[in-house]
Amino acid sequence: CGIVGYIGEKEAQPILLEGLSKLEYRGYDSAGVAIFNGEWIRVEKSKGRLVDLEGKLKSAGLSGNVGIGHTRWATHGKPSDQNSHPHTDEQSQFAVVHNGIIENYLELKEELIGKGYTFTSETDTEVIAKLLADLNDGDLVSTVQKAVARLHGAYALGVLSVKEPGRLVAVRYASPLVIGLGNGENFIASDIPAILKHTRDVYILEDGEMAILEKDRVQLMKIDGTPVERDTLRVTWDL
Ligand code: GLU
Repeated sequence: CGIVGYIGEKEAQPILLEGLSKLEYRGYDSAGVAIFNGEWIRVEKSKGRLVDLEGKLKSAGLSGNVGIGHTRWATHGKPSDQNSHPHTDEQSQFAVVHNGIIENYLELKEELIGKGYTFTSETDTEVIAKLLADLNDGDLVSTVQKAVARLHGAYALGVLSVKEPGRLVAVRYASPLVIGLGNGENFIASDIPAILKHTRDVYILEDGEMAILEKDRVQLMKIDGTPVERDTLRVTWDL
């Protein structure tokens, strides 16, 4: 029920875990992170509390300067390690975290199974990862746009592609998502407390918008690619 994402020059893992802890108030039954080291994306996830995830990460932490993290409130599929986010396609080309519900996931799942895709979870979210692989045109942004055009329902998404180490894509429709603007680093989060330690300058994404984050730049656009101009919001309150 919470998303945090980071792109910058620091180690992503501690930033994601700390951010997720600030979203615990939203409730959750599992947690996970995907960290990209510029060569491959690795996922660690666990049913239970953040301490359970931290326990798994203790022996072999994930190193990398780009990542996405998630706390899950299960809607489709029981709380389990397999159903926890992030979800990936079979080759781990894409990693996805999702808050919300994909209403047409069964229809999409059947279509993708018909094309030979294998599913490892019971979630609605996993169809997004497989859809990205199926629609992959070599460009993360247009692939996300094509995939999102097939989704009905509510979604806040964070997406990574192994082909694009310098980018993190966020999409919002009927689930909250904010973008945090740092110095040489940028963030996504379901809510401001998750990133307030790092920045007070944010964009609030609106329904049907997406953000392309690089470490030195953030571009906002509608899901169809129309550029969006927005003033940053300066957060003046403290936690
Ligand atoms: N519907 C997704 C699932 O059950 C996401 C739930 C959430 O918002 O945490 O995995």
